[in-house]
Amino acid sequence: MRRFAYCKVVLATSLVWVMLDMFILLYFSECNKCDDKKERGLPGRDDALSRPRDGPGEGGKPVVIPKENQEKMKEMFKINQFNLMASEMIALNRSLPDVRLEGCKNKLYPDNLPRTSVVIVFHNEAWSTLLRTVHSVIDRSPHTLLEEIVLVDDASERDFLKRPLEQYVRRLEVPVRVVRMEQRSGLIRARLKGASLSTGQVITFLDAHCECTTGWLEPLLARIKQDKTVVCPIIDVISDDTFEYMAGSDMTYGGFNWKLNFRWYPVPQREMDRRKGDRTLPVRTPTMAGGLFSIDRDYFQEIGTYDAGMDIWGGENLEISFRIWQCGGTLEIVTCSHVGHVFRKATPYTFPGGTGQIINKNNRRLAEVWMDEFKNFFYIISPGVTKVDYGDITSRSALRQKLQCKPFSWYLENVYPDSQIPRHYYSLGEVFSYTANKEIRTDDLCLDVSKLNGPVMMLKCHHLKGNQLWEYDPQKLTLIHVNSNQCLDKASEEDSQVPSVRDCSHTRSQQWLLRNVTLPEVF
Ligand code: UDP
Ligand code: MN
Repeated sequence: MRRFAYCKVVLATSLVWVMLDMFILLYFSECNKCDDKKERGLPGRDDALSRPRDGPGEGGKPVVIPKENQEKMKEMFKINQFNLMASEMIALNRSLPDVRLEGCKNKLYPDNLPRTSVVIVFHNEAWSTLLRTVHSVIDRSPHTLLEEIVLVDDASERDFLKRPLEQYVRRLEVPVRVVRMEQRSGLIRARLKGASLSTGQVITFLDAHCECTTGWLEPLLARIKQDKTVVCPIIDVISDDTFEYMAGSDMTYGGFNWKLNFRWYPVPQREMDRRKGDRTLPVRTPTMAGGLFSIDRDYFQEIGTYDAGMDIWGGENLEISFRIWQCGGTLEIVTCSHVGHVFRKATPYTFPGGTGQIINKNNRRLAEVWMDEFKNFFYIISPGVTKVDYGDITSRSALRQKLQCKPFSWYLENVYPDSQIPRHYYSLGEVFSYTANKEIRTDDLCLDVSKLNGPVMMLKCHHLKGNQLWEYDPQKLTLIHVNSNQCLDKASEEDSQVPSVRDCSHTRSQQWLLRNVTLPEVF
């Protein structure tokens, strides 16, 4: 899943909460009188499990809200930052398309696969999405492989997630436990609690707004039998607007940029070649999105679970990704396993202490422990981040020491050579780096010249040298644009502040002091 939002917008309108609670209270005071069948359904509805097969959202189809309900729909959207009205119209056990590659559909898996506990953490999740997650796990997993489902309530403030939830899950055909955090802790510590209370040999983490498709579990568990392998399904997209189910691509994998935002990137050719073009084989991925993965219980312990010093949301996905790779494990996307996730554009819940503060703190913890000198790429592009207190990391650094994990440069070289962070660079300055490929680069943008005597621009790096090739002269302090043989010139007063290229004149405006330049032969 994950992660569209860097600056997650917090939209908690207390009025809406109060209204929702009143609605739910009303419903449940009514529903206490319901018969068994009715109690199994969604609050306010009694047919959520027995809707006709052509009902709303069946087969993963989009739900269209009639015009007259659009206003109400928009109001309800704010509660969870997805179309709650659409979600409530869809059966908790709706059908989904089989989006797997043909080659996945008749693969055979060993009989003796390990059993998994499924751990789902939630804070103020909607009833319909949470229970649709649970039903899809139960309906689409062989019960011989499903030890239990553990729901960890991270101090939600919704009455329907209290006793009604416990009563509902008691009747399901797989053991479902509801455990509660004493106080709001965030997804990291909530998952740690769920993991510690669960008993399966494998732990599978899911977000609380997922839907598992046919055959999702077996390929994950089969792969885990491989030592030290952590696996993610392909994460399909459940539209936040219509709840339409859309297949995710097997041709993207996880990366990150200088800001340490998780991003999807195309699977590079080297990874296609390694698999000899067989797209049904697992893809080695530099990072995981975070919300959906399976891991062997003992291995989870061995590599140090999660960093419990991280709060609420963010950073933990890159932290565990770096840790797995640097400490001798393997992280894969199993392309025969598909699980849907509702991707949101904004966060509905609060970040106590401030969104930026918390995400920066978490990111600093992972940068300080795992990224060595490459943490500076993050620091340079994130103003103010070095002022954020990241607490005590001694136990995490000790873990890295104990496991004798490899340096971050090894990870960049061997796992993520196509990273936005250049493995080799001559200089890292205020904003830009001067890389070993002789690009002047920030994140995925490179200084580019398209016009003689004209202004320079930051364009997407193409790595073809050409217009993005710069030669630094450490004596004259000039940056020469090789193609045009002109020098990078600081903006003069009358210009629009944009540096340009001009004939080399050896004037002050063409001198650039690069920090820590150690030139060629090293590379
Ligand atoms: N979550 C939680 N406590 C928090 C924040 C999030 O338990 O303080 C849960 C949330 O309900 C969801 C999971 O953690 O099940 C991941 O959060 P979210 O879906 O908001 O993250 P995203 O998918 O946007 O990365
Ligand atoms: Mn999510």
